[in-house]
Amino acid sequence: MRKKTTKRKTEPTQADYASGKVPRPPGILGKTGIDWWYFVQFLAAALIVLGLVVFAWSNARAQTAALTSVDVEPPPAKYDHPYKGEIAIFHDLDPAGEMWAWTDPRGLNRGICNIHVVPNGTVDHGQIMDEDALTRVLRHENAHCNGWVHK
Ligand SMILES: [Zn+2]
Repeated sequence: MRKKTTKRKTEPTQADYASGKVPRPPGILGKTGIDWWYFVQFLAAALIVLGLVVFAWSNARAQTAALTSVDVEPPPAKYDHPYKGEIAIFHDLDPAGEMWAWTDPRGLNRGICNIHVVPNGTVDHGQIMDEDALTRVLRHENAHCNGWVHK
């Protein structure tokens, strides 16, 4: 004998909603179909991102404002004239290294003065190698080309 089955009407399960067979009941926002909880989460996430962006921006701004052009010792007048030979400038010093600039004296006997400098825009200890600093640095190093030795 066949057992009589009665289909009992039950509330839809989460699986029914997930499968899409049963439409979700309207949320607080009703017919717009916007899920209120997702909306709140999205808003919170957006605020956090905005906060981070503003924080990073103000941080970067504060750091830039505190930077000063690299301080360079002017050379003695005796050595402060154009080098007679050729000057070659290399922006190849390690920005993380100890030196802003360095003059290699080894080419001087051949009339070539090799000056090595950190890349433009290098920042270290609140100082930046900007255009003004580079001008002063090259004047300083040019004096080394002319034989100036620090005492
Ligand atoms: Zn020097």
